[in-house]
Amino acid sequence: MNPFFPSSWLGILGGGQLGRYFSQAAQDLGYSVCVLDPDEDSPAGKIAQNFIRADYLDKVALAEFAKTCVAASTEFENVPAKVLDWLIEQNVYVAPVSRPVSIAQNRTAEKEFLSNCSKKTGIQTAPYCIITSTQDCKNIAGDMFPAILKTTRLGYDGKGQKTIKEPNDLENAWFDLGQVECILEKKLDLAFEVSAIVARSFDNEVAIFPVAQNKHRNGILHLSIVPAPSLSESQEKEILEATKTIIRELDYVGVLCVEYFVLGDGTLIVNEIAPRPHNSGHHTLDSCFTSQFEQQVRTLARLPLGKTDLIQPVVMLNLLGDIWFDDNNQLIQPEWDKVLSIPSAKLHLYGKTEPKLARKMGHINFLAENIESAMSDATLAMEILGIPKE
Ligand code: ADP
Ligand code: MG
Repeated sequence: MNPFFPSSWLGILGGGQLGRYFSQAAQDLGYSVCVLDPDEDSPAGKIAQNFIRADYLDKVALAEFAKTCVAASTEFENVPAKVLDWLIEQNVYVAPVSRPVSIAQNRTAEKEFLSNCSKKTGIQTAPYCIITSTQDCKNIAGDMFPAILKTTRLGYDGKGQKTIKEPNDLENAWFDLGQVECILEKKLDLAFEVSAIVARSFDNEVAIFPVAQNKHRNGILHLSIVPAPSLSESQEKEILEATKTIIRELDYVGVLCVEYFVLGDGTLIVNEIAPRPHNSGHHTLDSCFTSQFEQQVRTLARLPLGKTDLIQPVVMLNLLGDIWFDDNNQLIQPEWDKVLSIPSAKLHLYGKTEPKLARKMGHINFLAENIESAMSDATLAMEILGIPKE
């Protein structure tokens, strides 16, 4: 298979910040980009050479998209799988294809796939079972509790989830989630969380970024730290190997993120996969030789993968819309000048017009000699921006 050389048109389904960075990386390499997204305020739509503003199932829009692009990828996790199949029928090269994307879209399929992989990786999922009826709610063994009930579809950033203390609470929680198919997972005692981002080319070359340690707040990623300070060398090695096995087992072409939990006794647990670049890989924009987005472009254009080495330790701080509001809920402008007076800070804003509470608006990468110094700069920026310490 030949590469698609620069000045060809590459397409991206989804035009959020991930699509914006994909577009920038593609444009840096000399490609033209076509974005399909329903949102008028699409961060990627604003910079693409062609922005088709339409629903993912709009036939006329998809026909224009297919006519424009030689190859297409996705940044929106819930892009209908049949759209990817249809694009292939139109002779568009698509990576990743629908099978791995559908697995990642459905927690049941995802957990089954990951537990199958555990035979090769040695890393298990949390104990889980599938809930599709009130009868299922009554048949769960007591040792599954406390537990987390998660809808199998459309959950993200902790949405579509409920923590359940005891068996009697399960049925009500399932009703609250709309009686849709769910999985119930044993709630584990996490010491910390990490993620690994990996890329695979059409000819089975695999390149992996260093593992990130992630802190969440209210279910949303707050900080990513690389190298992961709490991970031992052998744990990091095990995670890197497992992640490479997972991407090969999925027969996946493109960029994939795999999330892991580390328990108090050092046990590793694999949690979920995302079939695209990931928020916990935004540090690569400044900290790594190749960013996760350039890697996505390379996989899509059938080019060799880039080197993934970490150039400097980094802390990534997510910026949510909350910092645009003062204590009286009045709109303010964050003090970017003060933030940018921190020498280690690389500020990224996504160009979204309307700040909203909990909306991802941007991030800052702090690059320093060591994690401690990057972390203390991140803390200083949090003070400037009014982001609470805990
Ligand atoms: P999402 O798709 O919303 O990211 P996750 O499965 O990653 O869903 O869950 C969100 C967060 O909830 C995780 O990052 C972790 O902090 C916590 N969590 C999820 N599953 C478990 C579990 N089985 N035990 C303990 N904590 C969990
Ligand atoms: Mg997650």
